[in-house]
Amino acid sequence: MTGGDQVIGRDPWTGETVHAGPATTPRGIETAIVRAQAAWVGWASTPIETRAGILRAIAARLRADADDLASLIVAEVGKLRGDAEAEVEWTARTAEFYAAHPPPVAQAGSARILPRPLGIVAAITPWNVPLVTPAWKWLPALMAGNAVLWKPSELATGVAVATHRRLLAAGVPADVFALLPGGPSVGRALCADERVAAVHFTGSEAAGRAIAALVAPRLGRCALELSGLNAALVFGDADLDHAADCIVACATSLAGQKCTSTRRVLVDTTVRAALLERLTARLAELRPGDPSARETTIGPLITPEATALAEAEIKGAVARGARLLARSPEGAPGPGGTAPARAALLSDLPPGDPLRTRELFAPVLSVESFDDPQDAWRRADASPYGLSSAVYARDPALLSAAPSRLRAGVVALNRRGDDVELEAPFGGHKASGNGRPEGGEWVYGALTDTQAVYGAPA
Ligand code: NAD
Repeated sequence: MTGGDQVIGRDPWTGETVHAGPATTPRGIETAIVRAQAAWVGWASTPIETRAGILRAIAARLRADADDLASLIVAEVGKLRGDAEAEVEWTARTAEFYAAHPPPVAQAGSARILPRPLGIVAAITPWNVPLVTPAWKWLPALMAGNAVLWKPSELATGVAVATHRRLLAAGVPADVFALLPGGPSVGRALCADERVAAVHFTGSEAAGRAIAALVAPRLGRCALELSGLNAALVFGDADLDHAADCIVACATSLAGQKCTSTRRVLVDTTVRAALLERLTARLAELRPGDPSARETTIGPLITPEATALAEAEIKGAVARGARLLARSPEGAPGPGGTAPARAALLSDLPPGDPLRTRELFAPVLSVESFDDPQDAWRRADASPYGLSSAVYARDPALLSAAPSRLRAGVVALNRRGDDVELEAPFGGHKASGNGRPEGGEWVYGALTDTQAVYGAPA
């Protein structure tokens, strides 16, 4: 939240201020760009082993401070304690991964193919995964020899400040890794600046489109990871208990505020009733409450406005003809006055209903039935997005057909749709991205230019 030139982060559960500090001024942006321009060449020419050593030091520092960082993530974005701890550990593992995997050098014909750093990379990041998502950008960017300007979400600046401090303490030079707190205007200034070679963005589709419109005309590089409207397809022969476990866990993890959250359930008509019974039972088992309490399984949405929007969207869907089949239990409000999120299961949404075509960042599932596999694939594709799809079935023919029938960057077969491993590419198809995946060594395609070198140096 910005107030004038202030960035203010509030605990979604207690309402307390977690972070308050100035937004970056135009002068501050200019200074950071000038310093990064002067610094990146020196950084790129440091031995790769030195940069790898710094990344390993980052991993050690994050692990040493894991408790404090996890507490800050819980406080600032309302993530469950266990998930926040996992996020810190994931970030440490990501640092170790990139320390061991610098941008690869290849041979093609007689040419050596060298990955060259781009120069200055801007990382513009969302609030919901405030540590790993930024780290997926800045760790490989630094390993590749780029300087990084990080514009974190205005809702997660406290986590960013604490993390930035730790990276500098681990040995990243300050001019090579600058933190630029602020709202969209700071992001826009970075996107429009010719000296920023690449913009790596994760966030909403709307912001991604605005960013692309600023970066493309100046021929800047741009990597966009955007929204999702992820389907889970449940076929007639599926293990329905397992499918229901996966769907409800994936739809309600972080209170449905993940790009990979399952939002649409497509179920074979023959098992619809049996699946709905199981989904309803799993929703009833959710334990709403304080995200820092270990027993809680669903916490608050990020802001009171997000809670009001989710409730209005559910009401609106019912007014448009949808049926509200089930909700998770209501929890008592936290000290800040906001109640924990209540997951919802809707059916009979009219064709073209907004909840079937655009992302609502909340734990809301809509159910449709299909009659045969062709109908299932067609319905799965009937969304502008293509981030993640999950398939629950036993038939090997169906499972092996799924990847070629689903336009999605992640296809999970009898697993949760938010399963992601750091070695693998992660990037959305269709309006969920622009084909520049993150993850593993794939991210280097958007963080380096290739150089074909013919002839030997000697
Ligand atoms: P958001 O788009 O509102 O903001 C993301 C970042 O972009 C913030 O730092 C914000 O200040 C900045 N920003 C917003 N408008 C901008 C503009 N016009 N120019 C430059 N910068 C701008 O998203 P959010 O609410 O923080 O995060 C939730 C969204 O992110 C959801 O749509 C979710 O699906 C998506 N997301 C996608 C992934 C993925 O990997 N595909 C991962 C996490 C979140």
